[in-house]
Amino acid sequence: MDYSPSLLGSSLLGLIPGSSERRAPGRHELLAKVEDYLPAEQVERVRSAIEFGAAAHLGQKRRSGEPYIAHPLAAAGLLADLRLDADTIVAAILHDVIEDTPAAKEDVAARFGNDVAEIVDGVTKLDQIQFKSREEAQAESFRKMLLAMVRDLRVIMVKLADRTHNMRTIGSMSPQRRRQIARETLEIYAPVAERLGLYSMKLELEDLGFRALYPERYRVIERALKRARGNQKEFLGKIEKALKEALKKAGIEGEVESREKHLYSIYRKMRRKRALLAQVVDVYGLRILVDSPDTCYRALGVVHATYRPMPGRFKDYIAIPRVNGYQSLHTTLFGPNAVPIEVQIRTRDMHGVAESGIAAHWKYKAGATGSDSAQQERARAWISHLMEMQASGNAEEFIESVKVDLFPDKVYVFTPKGAILRLPRGATVVDFAYAVHTDIGNRCVAAKVDRRLSPLRTVLRNGQTIQIITAKGASPNPTWVNFVATAKARSAIRHYLRSLRRTEAVELGRQLLDAALADFNLSVDDLDAQLIDAALKEFSLKDRDELLQQIGLGERLAPLVARRLLPSDTTVSGRTTPLTVAGTEGLLVSYARCCHPIPDDPIIAFLSSGRGIVIHRETCANVEDYHKHPDKWLPVVWKEDLTRYFSSEVRIETANKVGMLAAISAAVAGTDTNIGEAAVAQGDGEISTITLEVEVKDRKHLARIVRTIRKMPGVLRVARTQSSRGEAAG
Ligand code: MN
Repeated sequence: MDYSPSLLGSSLLGLIPGSSERRAPGRHELLAKVEDYLPAEQVERVRSAIEFGAAAHLGQKRRSGEPYIAHPLAAAGLLADLRLDADTIVAAILHDVIEDTPAAKEDVAARFGNDVAEIVDGVTKLDQIQFKSREEAQAESFRKMLLAMVRDLRVIMVKLADRTHNMRTIGSMSPQRRRQIARETLEIYAPVAERLGLYSMKLELEDLGFRALYPERYRVIERALKRARGNQKEFLGKIEKALKEALKKAGIEGEVESREKHLYSIYRKMRRKRALLAQVVDVYGLRILVDSPDTCYRALGVVHATYRPMPGRFKDYIAIPRVNGYQSLHTTLFGPNAVPIEVQIRTRDMHGVAESGIAAHWKYKAGATGSDSAQQERARAWISHLMEMQASGNAEEFIESVKVDLFPDKVYVFTPKGAILRLPRGATVVDFAYAVHTDIGNRCVAAKVDRRLSPLRTVLRNGQTIQIITAKGASPNPTWVNFVATAKARSAIRHYLRSLRRTEAVELGRQLLDAALADFNLSVDDLDAQLIDAALKEFSLKDRDELLQQIGLGERLAPLVARRLLPSDTTVSGRTTPLTVAGTEGLLVSYARCCHPIPDDPIIAFLSSGRGIVIHRETCANVEDYHKHPDKWLPVVWKEDLTRYFSSEVRIETANKVGMLAAISAAVAGTDTNIGEAAVAQGDGEISTITLEVEVKDRKHLARIVRTIRKMPGVLRVARTQSSRGEAAG
C-alpha cells in the first residue's frame, strides 16, 4: 500500500483545539461500519482520510450549519453499507476536497494513491457538468454521457452516494434549487443507479426526489400507505403463514417476507395506469427467498397451487434477466377476498444483485489481492455476460446502450444554449458546426471550446461546450475534408465545393468562349438566341449556363462551340485571340507544378477534361503534347499589373558547408520573399543541391533572388528549375 501517515492532517490536528469528534461528526459511525469488514490497515487509511478531509474542510459549513466534513463522511457511510473497498470509501471521504479546498489532486495521489485521486477527480469533473435547464427529452443522453465520461465506475458510485446524502439534507436549500436538484435526481441519477443495479440507492433517490419535487402528493400517498399498512398487517400475516406452510409441506427451504412499497413507484403506477390511490396502495407485496434457481420454479408451483394466479401477470426474469442483471420470478395472486398479492421469488444471490447490482463487484473480500484493474475487468465481464444473456432476448436497446455506456465511441458535447449533440469519437469543431446546421458549417471561421478560442480542427471531448464563430461570406476550405469525422460534414463540404466549381466553371466557360468568339469580333452576349437554342438542342443541354459550364470544365472546346454558334456568313480568320489569366480565377485555372509559370513567362494552357485549364510555360517539356493534341491547347497571356504572388523554384548547387541552407534562406528572406518548401539533396563528394520554392511577383523578382543567391560564398551554381518530362502535366 502506498499509504503513509497523513502529515498535513496530523500537523493541522496539533494546531486545532478540540476533539476530532467535534470537527468530524459521523466519524465514529463510519469507522464502526468499516471496522466491520475491512482489515486493520485499511481502516487506518480510512481514519487518515477522515483527518485529511476534516483538516481540508476546516471552517467550512454546510447550509444546515453542520461542519462540512459531516457530508462526505455520511456519503462514505452509504458506500460502507454496500461493503465497498477501501479506495471507494477513502475517495468518498475526499470527494469534495479537490473542488472545494486547496488540497490538489497530486496531494491526494501522494497520500492515498492514484486510484483514489482519479476517483475524486472524476467526481469533481461530473460536478462541473451543469444539468440545469436541460430539456427532459435529453435526460437519456445525459445518463449515457454520465456513464461514458467515467472510466472507473466507482466514480459513479461515489457520485450517487454524494447525491443521496445531499437529497437527505435538501431541506436547507431554497425552494427553486430544491426543485431543480430533485428533478435532476429523478431524471438522471435514479435511472443511473437503476442501470447499475444499485436498487436500494435508486429507491431512496426516487422517494427523496419525489418528496422534494411534489411535497403535497408525497404526503397524501404517505398517509394512505401508513393507513393501509396498519390495516394490512393482520391480513398479510395470514397469507405469509399459509405460504410458509405450503412451502414446508413441499420440502422447500425458504424465507417469506413482506415487501416495502415505495412512494414514488406507487405514484408512477397511478399515473401510468391512471389508477386510483386505493387501487395501488391496496396491493400486497411478498418476497420468497430460496437457495437455487430450480427451487424458485418449484416454489412458484407451490404458490400457484395455494392461491389462484392472475392471468397474464407472470414474468420470468430468471430466464430473461432485466437490463441491469436483475433476476426474479414475478407473479400476482388472488388472495382472500380476491385481493391481489404480488409475489417475487428469487435466490439469495439474485437478491444480493437486486439490491446492490454492480457494487457487488467492488465489495471488499478478505484475502482478495486482485488489483483494481482486475476488479474493473470483472465488472466489465459482468456486463458482457449480461449482454450474452440478453442477446437472445428482445434487448437490442440494452446492448446498444451498454455499448455507448462502457465502450464509448461517441462524444457528447453542448451548444452554448445547453442542447446536447452526440458525435462520433474524433469529431472536430467543423463536424460540430455542420451538425448544428449546414449554413453554420459553411460559414464557420473559428470556435470557442469551453470559452477558449480554438482552431477548427480541434478534436472534441466529452462535456465540452462549443460556440461556433461564423463570418459573412466565409466559405468551406477544401482541406477540411481531410480531418472531419462525420459523413454529414464531409458531404456538405464536397457539395459546396462542387457548386462553387460549377459557378466558377460557368464564368471560365464564358471567358473561353468570349476569347474564341473574339476572333470573329463577337462576344457571348452578341450571339443570336435562335442559334444558341439550336446548338443547345444539338448538344442535348438544358440551358446556356450548362454549355458554359461544360466549356469551363474542359468537356467541350470553346473554338468548336464558337464555330457552331456563328452566323453562317461569318468569315473565319486564321488568328486566335488569347485568353488572359490573372491567377485569381479559382479552382478551375491552375498553374502547373512541373514548370511553375510566373508572370512575364510565355505561357500556354492545357484543357484538362473535367478539371478546367492548367497553365504551363511554353518551354515546359510537357508542352510537347501540344503536337499530339493541338485542340487541347489554348493560347493564353498574363493580365497586366498582377498583384498576387506565384510559386517558382530555384535549384542551387553549393559546396558542402554546414549551415548553407539557413544562410541561403536568410538571404532570400532579406529580399522580401516568402519561402515555400526547401529540400537538400546530398550529392556525392563536396556538392549538395538545394531546391527552394519561392513566392514571386514576376520574372524580375525571381531574377533578383537568383542574383542575391549567386553572390553568396559557397554557392557554385544557381538557376530556375527547368521542368523535366514525365512529371504530371497539371
Ligand atoms: Mn458532495
